[in-house]
Amino acid sequence: MADEFPFEISPMFEGERVRKDDMYVELAGPKSKGFELVNAVGIDEIEDGKFTLIGPDISEMEEGGRYPLAMIYRIAGELVEPDLEAIVERRNHDFQNYIQGVMHLNQRYDVWIRINKDAIAKGLKSFEHIAKASMMLFKNELTFIEKIEATYITDLEKVEEELAKAMERYAARDERTRNLHDEDVEEFYGCSLCQSFAPTSVCVISPDRIALCGAINWFDGRAAAKVDPEGPQFAIKKGECLDELSGEYSGVNEVAQKLSGGEYNRIKIHSFFEFPHTSCGCFEVVGFYVPEVDGIGWVDRDFTGNAPNGLAFSTMAGQTGGGKQVMGFLGVGINYFRSPKFIQSDGGWNRVVWMPKHLKDKVLEDIPADIVDKVATEEDAQDIDTLKKFLTEKGHPIVERWTTEEEEPAEDESVAETRAIGMLQVGMPAFDPAMLQNLPPMTGGGGGVKITLKNAKISIDKIILSNKE
Ligand code: SF4
Repeated sequence: MADEFPFEISPMFEGERVRKDDMYVELAGPKSKGFELVNAVGIDEIEDGKFTLIGPDISEMEEGGRYPLAMIYRIAGELVEPDLEAIVERRNHDFQNYIQGVMHLNQRYDVWIRINKDAIAKGLKSFEHIAKASMMLFKNELTFIEKIEATYITDLEKVEEELAKAMERYAARDERTRNLHDEDVEEFYGCSLCQSFAPTSVCVISPDRIALCGAINWFDGRAAAKVDPEGPQFAIKKGECLDELSGEYSGVNEVAQKLSGGEYNRIKIHSFFEFPHTSCGCFEVVGFYVPEVDGIGWVDRDFTGNAPNGLAFSTMAGQTGGGKQVMGFLGVGINYFRSPKFIQSDGGWNRVVWMPKHLKDKVLEDIPADIVDKVATEEDAQDIDTLKKFLTEKGHPIVERWTTEEEEPAEDESVAETRAIGMLQVGMPAFDPAMLQNLPPMTGGGGGVKITLKNAKISIDKIILSNKE
């Protein structure tokens, strides 16, 4: 069957990048519009294998052009239920990356696709090839799908119209976990899909923590594990709750050890600083510690400017991704901002100092009323100085931490060390100075860092001293 396609199909093409110079067309992505959506329907409502295109086809697109793209799949089968939609939808990413010459990034309304020139030269002229290859893979790999059909849309007006409906579907899925919490269930769910490019990634999905790609919630994980127990989504027995505040569970730690190949054996799912969740690279938002104000900022992939630390999303995403526990950075899904346990072991919203306005607007209703006006956006603060000024003027709770630091004398060595990096908080979790080695250079700040080495053995072969340029 694969012979009918003008390209090869194999998991070995996953990870293939299509750079700007090699690209024939770009579809959806940050500079256009698009989405992917899977809808579960009745078995008699669809025609298996049918493909419909609304708008221009690849053959009608100009080389180097950028176009909108919506990909809507309808699936049916005896075991198919709406809870499976998100799981099936997430696999579109895998399957399209199996196609040689096609690069698929992100998920839901963030999808970004590029087709390279070689693929066009080999005869890829129509979206029908891509849609039919994707549908073939969906049916081969997810055997509960008995029938599938696809509609691709490249007409901007129609994409916008359908995007509005898709956003309602995504919101309805996310809303389902609102009244369910970590303590109400015995099992969380794990997902290993991103291990193909981030081998130590340990993805844990709990009622209070949506997957960091934002595409899979607890109900989705449960439905997937039920229908395909050997598949990439699986149950994680919570085990003993070791620390409720930070969300540490013995069952999660055991899975972390196994999945990460021994790299990590502790994960606290509601912690920013200590044993944080790993960040594979699919995260919708990256959190970054701002040592100058002892607060946490968040930036999403739609924000094209620099955060107050002088860094763009892409720079921080590069620092954060790869499936590591990265001190000072954390990847999350947008719906995690709506969680009552949102980074609760590090102060929750009281620790948040900055986020882009469009992101803040998205989660506005879920920001506690007493802090909502105190979280700066790019309209209020563009660098560390303006951020400090804004937080001070608004009386952000973080400011009290600065005051505490100035007023209270250091009582012991560990306190003195914390003071040295400008972060003392009574009754709040301490920040490990060791994390500074992982932080990229920050703007503002200055004043130096005190490093205390205890019981350290240092051997040096050679020291080269040179004049400062
Ligand atoms: S981020 Fe997590 S849930 Fe989402 S696809 Fe990757 S491994 Fe699965």
